[in-house]
Amino acid sequence: MHDLLRNTPDLETLDKRYFFHPFTALADHERNGPHVVVKGEGVWLEDNHGARFIDGMAGLWCVNVGYGREEIADVLQHQALTLPYFHSFSSWATDTPILLAERLIEMAPVPMSKVFFGQSGSDANDTQVKLVWYYNNARGKPGKKKIIARNRGYHGVTIVSGSLTGMPSLHSGFDLPLSFVRHTTAPYRLWEAEPGLSDEDFVARLAGDLENLILAEGPETVGAVIMEPVMGAGGVIVPPEGYYPAIRAVLDRHDVLLIADEVITGFGRLGTMFGTTAMAMQPDLVTLAKGITSAYVPLSACMVSEKVWRAIVDGQGALGAFGHGYTYSAHPLAAAAALANLDIIENDGLVEQAGARGAFMHARLQAAFADHPLVGEIRGTGLVGAVEFVARKSPATRFEPALKIAGRVVKAALAQGVITRALPHADTISFSPPFVISEDEITQMVEGARKAADAVMDDLV
Ligand code: PLP
Repeated sequence: MHDLLRNTPDLETLDKRYFFHPFTALADHERNGPHVVVKGEGVWLEDNHGARFIDGMAGLWCVNVGYGREEIADVLQHQALTLPYFHSFSSWATDTPILLAERLIEMAPVPMSKVFFGQSGSDANDTQVKLVWYYNNARGKPGKKKIIARNRGYHGVTIVSGSLTGMPSLHSGFDLPLSFVRHTTAPYRLWEAEPGLSDEDFVARLAGDLENLILAEGPETVGAVIMEPVMGAGGVIVPPEGYYPAIRAVLDRHDVLLIADEVITGFGRLGTMFGTTAMAMQPDLVTLAKGITSAYVPLSACMVSEKVWRAIVDGQGALGAFGHGYTYSAHPLAAAAALANLDIIENDGLVEQAGARGAFMHARLQAAFADHPLVGEIRGTGLVGAVEFVARKSPATRFEPALKIAGRVVKAALAQGVITRALPHADTISFSPPFVISEDEITQMVEGARKAADAVMDDLV
């Protein structure tokens, strides 16, 4: 029955008739319809017409252990039969979230005290903002409510996390951002730094921009700053050496918390278990999602430091019981999947593998794209990379957005059997494959992308 359903030739028609797609150009979709995936194995996906693709993005930067892992499927089946669900409100608990919380705190990149579970990166970042607000209310600093994120940062799409996201295209149409959110400069060398500027001077400028913003707003009104260790959807932007220590020094001067959004970087993508470690960040709160279950089921987590936890607990007298939580907070099935996923990552040495395959991928990207006349920058670290196209290299000049260069390269790559992704507000394509990708598959992925770029560039002349 299920297989018959999957192979029905009518899936495209049914989709166009009934399915409201997220993050989709809806008018185009009404004309052209969906691309339906029915199967995954390792890094390979198969569509409903039998065509196969290398998933160069691990879904949306998330299927880190690859498709078809029986270990996770078995655990899910067992947990569904044993206890599919019970909640954790009012001191109730189930076993797998307790075990997962312990494991996360033990592996935390900086000392952390407690874990609050949700379902998505977006809702976790909403929770982080509520924790910052509650923390400041509890310690008698109710004015400290503003949250600073970065231009091009991506933190989700709910009303709060979508406000934190620093991308105008995700604001217009939705009346965002909310009034308590501010954005500061991204560490985006290609467009924010003149050629030849040293890392040291660039860091000083970025930290200065943040400090000036805090001072202009009034430090007594600023609660927290949220940053991805390496910016993902905003362009795969790796900050310069010394950036986070300089940011932390600013925050310490003004009693402002730091939230590390590790939704992409958590659980190995940079070749270290957490991006916080790779980038020398010292956060007070850490957001996790995606790689926590390799996306087999939805789960997110907020790791909370003892400083924040203790203030929240001590504030209960005045503020009452902690009135925040989702029906699916600490879902036992999701926690079981996370435990199985972490076992795979540890037992198969996938963090080290992501580092090694990442180095190989960057070497291939350099070999394929460094000499390309229209490539402005090749970026990334670990198993995440990006290629940004420019109309002119020196001085760096953008293409007309209407040309939709990155979108066209992505489409041409698909014709080569490679899935990559165009990132918003830049002519950038990204690579973030499952950690189990082989060297041959990396070569195939990068060569497919280069052929695609050539095809699009040939079209332009
Ligand atoms: N934070 C970061 C860094 C992300 O990359 C994403 C999603 O791409 C999110 C938050 C939002 O996560 P979700 O889509 O699960 O809500």
